[in-house]
Amino acid sequence: MHDIAIKNGRVHTGRTWEALHVYIKDGHIAALSCHDEPAKTHIDATNRDVLPGLIDPHVHFELDLGDAVSVDDFAGGSHAALHGGITTVIDFLDPTDTIEALKAAHKRRKKQAEKSLVDVRFHATLKAPKCDLEAYVKTVKALGMHSIKVFTTYSESNRRTDDIAIATLLRLTKAYDFTLVVHAERDERIVHDASFTHKDLPISRPEVAEMEAALTLAEMVRATGGRAYMVHTSSGRTVEMLKTRAADLLNKTLFLETCPQYVLFNDERLRDEQGKRFTFAPPLRDEAARKKLLAHADALYAFGTDHCAFHLNDKDKPRLSDIPLGIGGVEFSYAVMNLMVGDNVVNRMSRRVAELFHIDGKGIIATGAVADVAVFDPTPQVVENHHGNADYSVYTGETVSGHFTDVIHHGVVKLRDGKLVLKEDA
Ligand SMILES: [Zn+2]
Repeated sequence: MHDIAIKNGRVHTGRTWEALHVYIKDGHIAALSCHDEPAKTHIDATNRDVLPGLIDPHVHFELDLGDAVSVDDFAGGSHAALHGGITTVIDFLDPTDTIEALKAAHKRRKKQAEKSLVDVRFHATLKAPKCDLEAYVKTVKALGMHSIKVFTTYSESNRRTDDIAIATLLRLTKAYDFTLVVHAERDERIVHDASFTHKDLPISRPEVAEMEAALTLAEMVRATGGRAYMVHTSSGRTVEMLKTRAADLLNKTLFLETCPQYVLFNDERLRDEQGKRFTFAPPLRDEAARKKLLAHADALYAFGTDHCAFHLNDKDKPRLSDIPLGIGGVEFSYAVMNLMVGDNVVNRMSRRVAELFHIDGKGIIATGAVADVAVFDPTPQVVENHHGNADYSVYTGETVSGHFTDVIHHGVVKLRDGKLVLKEDA
């Protein structure tokens, strides 16, 4: 007797979609078949898509920015994530520059993550390093992490890692089998001006800053033979340039991420007072850059959200420098990417992320895999409500490709008929 049967769905089995029943027992996928087998709980997935539980490689729950903390803690953020079909997130440790601080950050963030309703992994985050980099990498691996995030910008808050240290880290990726996660914006191109408002965000953080940092990163990846994952690629011009200059690296040793906000919106959103809601870094780009991002979607390895939610009141500041940057996204990322890119986004939000970041047994619907499964109703809809702690979502009023009805996490039903299941009793 199986624990759960998901019947009559269109199941994503890695490469294709197949009409199958999915059977779950003891937290794992026990069988995929066309036959009726007995189970305690039945979920009818007729006319629905059955996906592996999605993995968001880029979230910031309970991010402490000094004067503000992102409003989705691990409880609120993971609640929204479940509504987005996400069963695993990768968040970040606080930026550290010594081994002692790294260990303390790991302890602190793991404690915060105990409230999560989904699985949480972490990228270590390095700020302007003060320690031996090899010793730092060894500690990251010993703590069970497989990635280190660096910034090429934010020198004003001492988070920038210079190119010499980045090249050293890239060389170490091979020996220690980890991925260097890079926020790529060339620091010298960032314009700080006390008179800027939210409307000036694209001037403050121009596209050229991303393009130059991306090209430098690609050249360092090639020179060192290292492995890098570039987060939140915001402009299609960056991707187009890398396809011309670094085609030999893309999806082999240089992996690009984009986020739903960059494929759905352009910088016109920033032009009125409502634009304060759309403040994040890198900022929205022009319509041609957005279209190119979609046109070159084949070169994008994975999709994350950079989920970092705030309330409207936090955003309602006249000066750009006083606005905390970031938006929520976990709930609608699949429904947006599915609408904009198509059916082929599933692996980029599950299996590929699991492979690159060593999340074993996840990201695929196959016999023996962890029973993380999400059932999606592909009926286009206009977003009216959202979950999590923030009092607004940029996706309200937007059309998306559907919504998740049921989500199973380690063989436990966490979302049923679109509602959070608080206590599980079959
Ligand atoms: Zn981020």
